[in-house]
Amino acid sequence: MKILVINSGSSSLKYQLIDMDDESVKAKGLVERIGIEGTHFKHSVLGTDKGIEFTRNMKNHSEAISAVLEALTDKDNGAITSLDEIGACGHRVLHGGETFKESALVTPETLAEIEALVPLGPLHQKANIAGIRACQEVMPGKPNVAVFDTAFHQTMPPKAYLYGVPYEYYKTLKVRRYGFHGTSHRFIAGEAPKYIGKPADACKLIICHLGNGSSLSAVVNGKVVDTSMGLTPLEGLLMGSRSGDVDPAVLEYIMDNTGMDIHEMLNTLNKKSGFAGLSVSSDMRDVKAAAAAGDELAKETIAVWTYRVQKYIGAYNVAVGGADAIVFTAGIGENDTQAAEDVISGLAFLGVKIDPAKNVRGNAGVISTDDSTIKVLRLATNEELPIARDTLAIVNAL
Ligand code: ADP
Repeated sequence: MKILVINSGSSSLKYQLIDMDDESVKAKGLVERIGIEGTHFKHSVLGTDKGIEFTRNMKNHSEAISAVLEALTDKDNGAITSLDEIGACGHRVLHGGETFKESALVTPETLAEIEALVPLGPLHQKANIAGIRACQEVMPGKPNVAVFDTAFHQTMPPKAYLYGVPYEYYKTLKVRRYGFHGTSHRFIAGEAPKYIGKPADACKLIICHLGNGSSLSAVVNGKVVDTSMGLTPLEGLLMGSRSGDVDPAVLEYIMDNTGMDIHEMLNTLNKKSGFAGLSVSSDMRDVKAAAAAGDELAKETIAVWTYRVQKYIGAYNVAVGGADAIVFTAGIGENDTQAAEDVISGLAFLGVKIDPAKNVRGNAGVISTDDSTIKVLRLATNEELPIARDTLAIVNAL
């Protein structure tokens, strides 16, 4: 069966067509600027030079999905001959709240529950719903499955997810820590034990998903016990454009002194902070290039980022009760060998050591020395495959 995996943002839509016979990606693409002048569409068929690229205004996600399906079935540049070849669609959905502890078939009831969670992540959740509705409209009768970014973290105990604010806000508004990047953390939690020599249900892991958005998770025996993102993806590490942890009183102080309202303030913390706020751009490569050229603030930005990751690793080593492995993944984690070395250098006192001969870009697996007290791994994440696997499992069980 082939599964169409869809990740819709407020003005974008990414997709992959995955053949579940061998879990290979057949085609993938991206629609950007949906609902904005100059919608751009790019589609490619893996393992071939076939592709489609054009700019043509698309008003909404339904038009974008229609364009995707046209491209997938295109006579010359498509990947399938008929839409019948698509068994189901799997959708990345930002927030499952406490309602969804695992992936769910989209029914009128589940869609209503997903809609009820819009207040917890207005922009993303509405976009995800738009993607589901677009598929229902354009491919009536085709099963849709929702896979939640928060679901893998639902095993966290209350001591990890409760904020120290009046309990009534948890009871009435569900204010608590949820965590995100769940499909990535879950995928890595499944892969890492293969390199550790222990079964997944006997492994203590610290998973460092370090990309543009970044989060750490503490995983014991396959279950999350803590993660660094909170009610929203703003909490935790320093990120491309997000501040991560700040004293909430900073908001009042800045707002009182600049006249910003709370929406502008949150926009600043989400979109104009992190690397982008402290340094030259939201992209780690730009920050590294500036640091290499002698920019002192860029060097300090990297130091802030590194120190924050180190502190969370220290905390999560306690959370898991002594880790078997620390795993680096996502854009920075997979590619930036220096970042891994810098982070791990702060753990030397624990006897954790990177092997420079193994710490080579593209080298997946163990990158620590044989005598390192905690193994260090670098693994490529895959955020689409878990969505496709869940979708297949749910559709097969129908
Ligand atoms: P997203 O959260 O958008 O999926 P990614 O996981 O793709 O992000 O990560 C993007 C980040 O990875 C950017 O900060 C980028 O600079 C960084 N990155 C990618 N390749 C490298 C590299 N070779 N060296 C350092 N950073 C890199």
